[in-house]
Amino acid sequence: MSAPEQPPSNRLKQAEKITSHPEQYKVCEACGSIIVARAVTCPSCHGYLFDSDVHRVVAQAKDLAMRSAHSVLASDLI
Ligand SMILES: [Zn+2]
Repeated sequence: MSAPEQPPSNRLKQAEKITSHPEQYKVCEACGSIIVARAVTCPSCHGYLFDSDVHRVVAQAKDLAMRSAHSVLASDLI
């Protein structure tokens, strides 16, 4: 059902990757997940409204990275 839990170090690396290329990602308006820009629907909540603003993507990536110690990426976002 939910994505396998990733070690915090992987999540930080992922966040760094996103913040260095934010134009390749977008934020799901429904659940806040960061997904690749070419995705048509959110793999987490199947939503289809996204914010591809690079500043929003970077801010969201940092927010998710900060939370990584206590939570998983997709399943804790309501
Ligand atoms: Zn979503």
